[in-house]
Amino acid sequence: MSPTSPPESLPVAIVGAGQAGLAMSHALLERGLRPAEDFVVLDAGSAQTLSWRRRWDSLTLFTPAWHSHLPGLRMPGAQRRYPSSKDVADYLDLYRASLGVEPKWDTRAISVHPQRDDSLVLQTSTGSLRARAVVAATGPFAIPQYPGFANDTAVDGANLHSDAYRNPDQLPRGPVLVVGSGNTGIQIARELSAHRCVSIAQGSPQPRLPHRLLGVDLFRWLQLTGVLSVPSNGRIGRRISSRELVVGPGMVDLASRGVHLLPRAVDGNRDRISFADGVERRFESVIWATGYRNGFGWLPEAVVGADGTLEDGRTPIAGLYVLGDSWLRNRGSALLGGVGADARLIARHIVP
Ligand SMILES: Cc1cc2nc3c(=O)[nH]c(=O)nc-3n(C[C@H](O)[C@H](O)[C@H](O)COP(=O)(O)OP(=O)(O)OC[C@H]3O[C@@H](n4cnc5c(N)ncnc54)[C@H](O)[C@@H]3O)c2cc1C
Repeated sequence: MSPTSPPESLPVAIVGAGQAGLAMSHALLERGLRPAEDFVVLDAGSAQTLSWRRRWDSLTLFTPAWHSHLPGLRMPGAQRRYPSSKDVADYLDLYRASLGVEPKWDTRAISVHPQRDDSLVLQTSTGSLRARAVVAATGPFAIPQYPGFANDTAVDGANLHSDAYRNPDQLPRGPVLVVGSGNTGIQIARELSAHRCVSIAQGSPQPRLPHRLLGVDLFRWLQLTGVLSVPSNGRIGRRISSRELVVGPGMVDLASRGVHLLPRAVDGNRDRISFADGVERRFESVIWATGYRNGFGWLPEAVVGADGTLEDGRTPIAGLYVLGDSWLRNRGSALLGGVGADARLIARHIVP
């Protein structure tokens, strides 16, 4: 593909080479399509910059290994353990090799345009490509999100989003505030508590469940009770999806490690942060564990702005599909153990 040559033509283009793009590749292979000849996978980054390679060093999954693999290949090692981000990154490299898929790296999708002949033209940073189907697998947690007052916060030490946090060595020795008490904020606060004076600003109350209930893995319960497959567009799905579930040790554990539990952070003025209790406090470093926006902003307005769920990942534009977004079809849609089922549904639409 060169920026000036006419569009290369292929039946299917998959945008994103993370777990969703690989699950899609597997589903197309199952339906008889061949990599490079029938479908291509593009990614804006490289094998070294894939998201699981960029997450913090000590990250431990909240899903056990047996629920953290893609169709057709289990994650190596004990299935009851909670893998690290490196385990997942290594597993995805192995998975990609097992499929025989070699993505076109350093190729960013910029836009996609429906044509009169029902094909789609995908504009990328390295040229354009014509395809019968395009699957957008560009990530549910792609763009770091901050509260408005983060711009007014200027501490002397580190001022990082959790996306850029790797390990405690990045921070000077002074007091640290972690903003956000979801799974990410809790894990980072716990790690830092062994090295620094740490406070955590709690967001909206979130339901918390332990890794194991009555000796049985939580994800086994969620599977058995059907919680993982509750449709996102139903009444129960809408209610569950509005609040992130914290899995594993929570605030009580943090308090026992000496972490100060603070109310919601509401404003910032240089190194002074104000909290919902009306008190202003000073910190040397701040870590914003305040979530992400998805990576689907390059899709047409009609898709990005679509209200509610996209049935089976189908968008209002024929031939254009979305895979891997949070609660796309159900809780499993953005999980390693759930994205494969959604990919298979899309593959059935592409290759009936
Ligand atoms: C901190 C954290 C912990 C998590 N823990 C778990 C867990 O324990 N268990 C679990 O199952 N899930 C977990 N998840 C959720 C989910 O599994 C991950 O977010 C996963 O990375 C999503 O995979 P993906 O392939 O959909 O997206 P990504 O991994 O984000 O991959 C998307 C790819 O698309 C590429 N891309 C983006 N935009 C473009 C573009 N315009 N053109 C071309 N390429 C583009 C990117 O370079 C990237 O490689 C966690 C998520 C986070 C953030």
